[in-house]
Amino acid sequence: MQTLIDRFDRVHRDLRISLTDRCSLRCTYCMPEQGVPWLQKNTMLTTEELLRLASVAVSLGIDEVRLTGGEPLLRRDLVDVVAGMTALDPSPEVSMTTNALGLTKNAEALVAAGLTRVNVSLDTLNDDTFKKMARRDRFQDTLDGIKAAADAGLAPLKLNTVLLRGVNDHEAPDLLEFALEHGYELRFIEQMPLDAGHTWHRESMVTGQEIRDRLETRFELTPVPVRGNAPAEMFFVDGGPAKVGVIASVTSPFCGTCDRVRLTADGQLRNCLFAQNETDLRTPCAKAPATKSWRTCSAPASALSCLVTALTSLASCSQADR
Ligand code: SAM
Ligand code: SF4
Repeated sequence: MQTLIDRFDRVHRDLRISLTDRCSLRCTYCMPEQGVPWLQKNTMLTTEELLRLASVAVSLGIDEVRLTGGEPLLRRDLVDVVAGMTALDPSPEVSMTTNALGLTKNAEALVAAGLTRVNVSLDTLNDDTFKKMARRDRFQDTLDGIKAAADAGLAPLKLNTVLLRGVNDHEAPDLLEFALEHGYELRFIEQMPLDAGHTWHRESMVTGQEIRDRLETRFELTPVPVRGNAPAEMFFVDGGPAKVGVIASVTSPFCGTCDRVRLTADGQLRNCLFAQNETDLRTPCAKAPATKSWRTCSAPASALSCLVTALTSLASCSQADR
């Protein structure tokens, strides 16, 4: 089997697939309230195209597929996508990052289709703060979705939190308390300059160090020695075994060990969240000979060569050698 090794000698094993750019929330750090230039529906990858590209990726050593968005739960064929991904040979681990809205309806079907884990975004335990941060009145629905995921056996259930100064940063210890009580693993993510609304300011970002300082007002944190490829720096809480993670993508980038590639909902391959360039995989994939079933479709050679070329040149990740 081939492996995807880029020019920084990083081996890529983790594929993040955005299933849609649409979302049921409008988190202030992620999307503007209005005026998002949504992708045209007819440019989005079909289920068959998604599975073809995923089959190319697993043949190249990708062993973990993370479904994301926008909000992946808005994709109507989500259960079919998960079932198709887990049926690939070799079969990747399939997980999802989600805001959990709607998980009450299909958590069990997703588990039956082979979904193993979810990361759920939860930034606050306060109804009003949720409305302010997500610009939608869906706090209870989010909690219900998290519970549904846990009840369906999606474990370990991880929570992702972005702290905004003066908005929810005082809640860090309460969020950790909540996660510990329920047996979830909480990870704080430094706010990155990714929002389409360009509201990010380095000075107002809550840094990884500040996150730890806030947690240490209530808990004792001890670094977990082995980090591996994971972006989160992990800490035992009060001696363990419970842990909390801090992803300091801005103040302590993990580019040197990053093993991820990203596919947008319209089939563009991006080597990095901050990539300036994309490689179009949808066109070669769509041109691959039509088959009745993606299962009988051998990896389309042109998509495969695009993927390999994009990965091996990897011109857009300027920080990889750190
Ligand atoms: N809608 C899903 C969700 O919120 O989990 C999946 C997509 S969302 C883009 C994936 C993750 O990116 C979430 O955990 C979210 O908190 C995080 N995220 C979004 N914008 C961010 C930003 N500007 N800085 C840091 N993390 C961000
Ligand atoms: Fe939607 Fe997730 Fe972005 Fe929030 S962080 S607006 S839930 S995509």
